[in-house]
Amino acid sequence: MVTGGAGFLGSHLCDKLISQGHQVLCVDNFFTGRRSNIVHLLDHAAFTLIEHDITTPLEVEIDRIYNLACPASPVHYQHDPVKTMKTNVLGAINMLDLAWRKKARILQASTSEVYGDPEMHPQAETYWGRVNPVGVRSCYDEGKRAAETLFFDYNRQHGVEIKVARIFNTYGPRMHPNDGRVVSNLIVQALRAEPITIYGTGSQTRSFCYANDLIDGLMALMESPVEFTGPVNLGNPHEMSILDTAKLIVELCNSPSKLIFKPLPGDDPQRRKPDIELAKTKLNWQPTTGIVEGLKSTIHYFETSL
Ligand code: NAD
Ligand code: UDP
Repeated sequence: MVTGGAGFLGSHLCDKLISQGHQVLCVDNFFTGRRSNIVHLLDHAAFTLIEHDITTPLEVEIDRIYNLACPASPVHYQHDPVKTMKTNVLGAINMLDLAWRKKARILQASTSEVYGDPEMHPQAETYWGRVNPVGVRSCYDEGKRAAETLFFDYNRQHGVEIKVARIFNTYGPRMHPNDGRVVSNLIVQALRAEPITIYGTGSQTRSFCYANDLIDGLMALMESPVEFTGPVNLGNPHEMSILDTAKLIVELCNSPSKLIFKPLPGDDPQRRKPDIELAKTKLNWQPTTGIVEGLKSTIHYFETSL
């Protein structure tokens, strides 16, 4: 089962699982997910779609749960912050209860946001983070932190087999054009010859991972030995400033767009880069797609779908 299976990452995960011969149950409430992401799977005998909101319980027969349901873009998770918290906390409880009842293994799509605006660089799993509990990003950051707590308590208290992945900024085909995240925003603006919006000075950094690499990491984690629960960072350690990212996108799109500067959103982290030594050691995983190659394929997707 893939919750959030009609979303950006969830739909790639459904594809990969189907290609490996698994039966896939995709669960989504279509808040940010789209039918077009999974339309090619709808007639596949091994694929089932259920329109369902994970804040209410679900009774299905499954042996693996990938829990990805949650809006990931700041614009969307701040649209209804109370709902975001409910998806993270009630959704985690419902999915963990299901895993417990069915003796299923469950993986949580957690996030680098659990580190907040970090004082430690790069961020390792041992770092406990610096998160504002009452800011505009808190519904997501604290929601994901509470979900991690629930995962470890269900593991300790009820013996549920858990896996926790801390995903760092991931991009690729099937991001929503209005998603609001930086890579999709900038590519869409560049292709439409619109101004490129840089928030703040653009000196803040992120480390961008290509979707296919990330999906391989999630699946390696799911099938890792039972005693390895994580949390484990999954991401690409190649760090770039937002300004350099914007310049690269403009160049690769061969766009006439000019950069414009807008106010930095609240609590926007200054630096972010994963330490992926744990994933390398425990999962024998590391990303293999470079930024230029990954951006080219993402640009191609937007060129053909906008
Ligand atoms: P996305 O918004 O494209 O996908 C999220 C999916 O969850 C959507 O299909 C949406 O409709 C669905 N959803 C939301 N609330 C739901 C609910 N209550 N019940 C059922 N379905 C619901 O985002 P994404 O980038 O694919 O992210 C997937 C997961 O990975 C999220 O949990 C996100 O927090 C996590 N993550 C992503 C990134 C990234 O850079 N892409 C980074 C860190 C963590
Ligand atoms: N950002 C930007 N222009 C945009 C969208 C985002 O400069 O059009 C910046 C944003 O302020 C942040 C970085 O890019 O510093 C990454 O933002 P995103 O929303 O993609 O992810 P997150 O902040 O959650 O890492």
